[in-house]
Formats: sequence, C-alpha cells, structure tokens
Amino acid sequence: MSDKPALQPETIAIHGNRVRDNQFNSILFPIHQTATYIHETVGVTKGFGYSRGGNPTVNALEQGIAALEGTASALCFRSGMGAITTLCLALLKAGDHVILSEVIYGGTMRLFHQVLGNFNVEYSFVDTSNLDAVRQAIRPNSKLIFIETPANPTMKLTDIHALAEIAHASNLLLAVDNTFLTPLLQNSLKLGADISMLSTTKYIDGHNATIGGSLATHDEAVIERLRLVRKTLGTIQAPMDAWLTLQGLKTLPARLDVHCRHAARVAEWLEADPRVHRVYYPGLSSFPQHELALRQQSAFGGMLAFELNATVEESLRFIDALKICTCAESLGSVETLITNPATASHCDLPLDERERLGISDRLIRLSVGLEAPQDLIADFEQAFATVFGGAK
Ligand SMILES: *Cc1c(COP(=O)(O)O)cnc(C)c1O
Repeated sequence: MSDKPALQPETIAIHGNRVRDNQFNSILFPIHQTATYIHETVGVTKGFGYSRGGNPTVNALEQGIAALEGTASALCFRSGMGAITTLCLALLKAGDHVILSEVIYGGTMRLFHQVLGNFNVEYSFVDTSNLDAVRQAIRPNSKLIFIETPANPTMKLTDIHALAEIAHASNLLLAVDNTFLTPLLQNSLKLGADISMLSTTKYIDGHNATIGGSLATHDEAVIERLRLVRKTLGTIQAPMDAWLTLQGLKTLPARLDVHCRHAARVAEWLEADPRVHRVYYPGLSSFPQHELALRQQSAFGGMLAFELNATVEESLRFIDALKICTCAESLGSVETLITNPATASHCDLPLDERERLGISDRLIRLSVGLEAPQDLIADFEQAFATVFGGAK
C-alpha cells in the first residue's frame, strides 16, 4: 500500500490509473483502431493479440472506470445490455435461479423473459426494497441477486448494504446496476455488492455519442471468467467508442455536480406547482425512502419522475409541447431528455403490471441536463399553458 493521500474523485476521473502514450506522449490516449497486433516473434505480443479479446484504448477506459469504482480491474462492453448478458452467461448455468428487482430496466426484463428463460435459467422479479420479500424468494438453486437502485423509472431504492448481507449469508452474489448514480454518487462495491454494472451510454459518456457498458468487481477470478466469456461472445467495447467515453469520463464529476443541482431545483419547482400531482426524486423530503437515499448515496442524481394533475392524453400533449426538453430515450446526457415510460422503456409490460409497479400511463421520466434550470422551468411553463391554459 502506498502512503500517498487518496486523490479526490475529480482528480481520479482525469488522472486515475491513467495509461500513457509512450510512443509520442500525446496528452489524449490514442485510438488503437485495429483488429489485430503484430507478433514480435511467433507467439510473442506486447499484451494484445486480437481486439475481440482486448484493446489498448478499451483498456485505458477500463483503468479509468476501475479507478472510480475503487477496484483493480473493470471490463468494458459494447453496450450496457452486453455487460449484463455477459455477466449472466459467465456466472449462471441452466437450473440456476436469479432474483431481480421488479422495477428494473426494460432490457434486463427482456433478457430474462425472452432469452435466458429459454435456457432454463429460473428467475423471480421481487420488490427488493422489501428485505423480507428477498429472503423469501431465495431458493436452494439461487445464485445471483441483480438489483437496480434507484430503479428505472419510479426511483424506488433498494438498501444495498442490507441486501449484500442477505446475499452473502446464502452464498449468493449481489450485482447492482448503478447506471443512474455512477460510483461517484453511490459506490455499490463499498456498500458490499460483489459486482457493479454501469451503462456507460448514460452519465459516463454523457454526450449521447456512444453505447457502452462496464462491470467492476474486487474478485479477480470473476474478472477472468468475464474476460473469457466476453472474448467468446464478442461483447467487448469498440476502440472509437471507448475513446469517446474516456473523454466523457474526465468531466463526469463536474457534470454530475451540475446535474444534481439542476435536478433538485426542477424537482422542488415541480413539487410546489398545483398542476403537478406527484414528484419522485430521492432528494425531496417527501420521497418515501429519502432517509435511505441520505444513507447510501452521496447525492441524489439527475433523474426524476412526475405525474401531472391531468389525463394521459394531456400528459403526452405536455411532452409534445416542450421545446428545450427533448423527447428521447436514454438519460444522463448534457441534453434534458424526457420520456413516457409506459409508451417507451416499459411498453412491453401489461397495464395491470405497470400499475402495480407504480409506472402509470401518465408517469413522465425526466433526465435533467446541463441547461440553465430557469430555461427548463420556462419551457415547462409554456408547455403547461398548452394543457392547462394560463391559470395555475
Ligand atoms: C440504458 C440502461 C441499461 C442498458 O444499457 P445500454 O447501454 O443501453 O445497453 C441498463 N440499465 C439501465 C438502468 C439503463 O438506463
């Protein structure tokens, strides 16, 4: 162990575990856009053989993410779903059982319902905010608990530390999809999780330029298994995308700071407005799990959801009337993005199931970007006027 003082996250995001360009000293690590690598003599490489197995630019991004996660190694993937799929195929076999948060990214649900179920992987979607429900869901063949907190799109939280204790008491691994907060605002591994998963498409890239994902763990045996399965499936990140993501990573702490401040401002403004029925933002004291958010997160992030005092039709008309906030899937970018989960990310779920999970047809999800919050609020005002008229 070194006795140097630990660096702050802002510094780690720029310099942490940085790999240098030894050839020309370029300040940006180069894009190694190559499929293969020349052997110095037969069988002797400089550590990279073929870019499906590994690539120096992808490795530079992995070092940066590992530094933020506080691990020795991380792996990067072609997409967040590529990361989750690789994780499941690496750790599970037919007959194993997985427990998942019932409010979770739509793609993760699809992976189990439409793909892994066909390979005899058993799974239960459980309210993981309820620790007893998780305990009761554990079976003799359970292997993995996969949670998302805050969950997409209702912002429901799961207590990572408590769940890690439950998982480890039964010899299960706990994986956390930490896409909404990133390790900067919630370090899942420090809280006791075994695996941290990120869709780097979102806050890590931050500019809607790439699709990507990452996995981090302290368990080097798991890393080696993931590396083997990633090479087999071909789910590794592409060099150009890794390079772009690496640029985003450097400004992540600065961006998150602004995302959090702007989201809090917008959430408070919405909550105070009589035309708004309800706001779901863990930073509000009205949020049912606000105390858990204070305990396991260092800030509240840039994501929120809300419902208007309006019909579904009016709510959709409100979204259409916005001029700065953009109706598009994805989140975590400099642009403010708004969606209606019932018709977008969660359209596969039947209505009664959506209602049970709190994903009403009029729920609106907002990823607050870096625009001035007063401009976003003015945009809401003019869109409200098209639905409610001038009066509050
Ligand atoms: C987007 C997202 C994913 C999937 O990531 P992709 O990069 O789109 O494949 C997984 N989990 C959450 C919470 C997400 O928002």
